[in-house]
Amino acid sequence: MMEVDVAIVGAGAAGLAAAVALRAAGQSTILLEAAATPGGRARTTTPAALGGAWLDEGAAWLHMAEHNPLVPMAQAAGQPLRAAFRSESLMFLGDRPATAAEHAEYDAADTAWTGIVMGRPAEPDTDLATAIGPFRHENPWAPTIEAWHASLIDAVDAPYLSLADFRLNQLDGQNLMGERGFGRLLRDLLEADAGPIRGLCPVSRIAWGGDRVRVETPQGAISAASVIVTVSTGVLGAGAIAFDPPLPSATEAAIADLPMGLLSKIVLRAAGEDRLGMTTPTHAFRRLERLGDPFLSFIAWPRGTDHVIGFVGGDAAWAVAPDPRAALDLARREWRAMFGARADAMFRPEGFTTDWGTDPHHLGAYSYARPGGAGARSALAAPIAEGRLLFAGEACRTDGMAGTVGGAVLDGRRAAALVIARKDPSHH
Ligand SMILES: Cc1cc2nc3c(=O)[nH]c(=O)nc-3n(C[C@H](O)[C@H](O)[C@H](O)COP(=O)(O)OP(=O)(O)OC[C@H]3O[C@@H](n4cnc5c(N)ncnc54)[C@H](O)[C@@H]3O)c2cc1C
Repeated sequence: MMEVDVAIVGAGAAGLAAAVALRAAGQSTILLEAAATPGGRARTTTPAALGGAWLDEGAAWLHMAEHNPLVPMAQAAGQPLRAAFRSESLMFLGDRPATAAEHAEYDAADTAWTGIVMGRPAEPDTDLATAIGPFRHENPWAPTIEAWHASLIDAVDAPYLSLADFRLNQLDGQNLMGERGFGRLLRDLLEADAGPIRGLCPVSRIAWGGDRVRVETPQGAISAASVIVTVSTGVLGAGAIAFDPPLPSATEAAIADLPMGLLSKIVLRAAGEDRLGMTTPTHAFRRLERLGDPFLSFIAWPRGTDHVIGFVGGDAAWAVAPDPRAALDLARREWRAMFGARADAMFRPEGFTTDWGTDPHHLGAYSYARPGGAGARSALAAPIAEGRLLFAGEACRTDGMAGTVGGAVLDGRRAAALVIARKDPSHH
């Protein structure tokens, strides 16, 4: 049986960062990855339907650039970063563009909404929809603002989301992007120093009762002094990995309090030269008239490409997740609602949609905390069996970077530091 100091389950941002830190400290590691390639939810592909253009299927933006560990790494590696698309904003009310006065009303309502949500007492933790109070039903912009902040950014509808968790993970600060996609950037920065990675190697069972941990895979078992598990809380909650003995009840409860939200990207490609008069990358969306209706927001012609990327999140994303055709239809209907019949002729019949919700290696986009569950992130991060078993990844962050790649990198390093300190108590 193969023996290593540390087995790392999952070669996404957290797993790669943990491996790099452990190897720099002289530990032997192996990364066990269910997919064929590393990167996890940071994945840059060139879908056939997009005619050669690349797409970040998952993460695209380096959020909170001021605190994001990947920003100095990219700079040191000479990898150019640029400000996120500077795009025109085109809001529709029904089938007509909003006036300047309506844009101003929307901005004012957003400020008022934020004031209400941020001004609520923190205890007891409630759900975000309750926290909004009467404004939610009285203000004509409230459905759009709620869909934007909860369903799209946090990938979950407001009634399911912890207010405390929402407030903590506001992602303030600058957003940057790589020139060739976030998935490629992550691999460029971390893969070379991450040591051996075994792909197509899903871990099925972790026996952590003894002095050493036994990690089972279809490619054989591995014996490790410690194991760091970085799979999503969706994968953990589905029971894809059996733990023997079962996980402590506090860990089980933390996983249950951190379900996965869903954000899907639905991409349509122009059939001809018509760009609907948009000469620069444009951010187009319609005001949402009723709470609970699906909300879509599009980035049209990013980087001068001939495609539009639609974003849909929360329940609306789960509703179309099993059926790419339904997702594409949803996006087409939205363009028709904005631009009428002209939009029908705009796009090619084929398109592309992401499938994070049904992909068994992820089962969602990123974690959110249920109301009352804001403590779950630190509970999941707590070392088990004197640090022989550790969880790490975006779901464990309590510094406001949960749900992000930068947060996952920091968390992989956190777990690595715990392992290093355990092996060498003088290392603190
Ligand atoms: C649509 C979308 C948009 C996003 N946008 C952004 C953004 O703009 N900016 C941002 O910072 N973040 C964004 N995110 C979130 C970001 O991608 C994640 O928070 C981050 O990549 C998570 O990293 P991780 O290492 O914690 O987990 P993962 O990347 O999920 O890594 C875990 C790895 O474990 C593997 N695995 C699963 N099961 C097993 C098993 N049984 N055995 C072995 N391996 C297994 C998986 O294949 C995966 O590679 C987005 C995510 C999505 C889905």
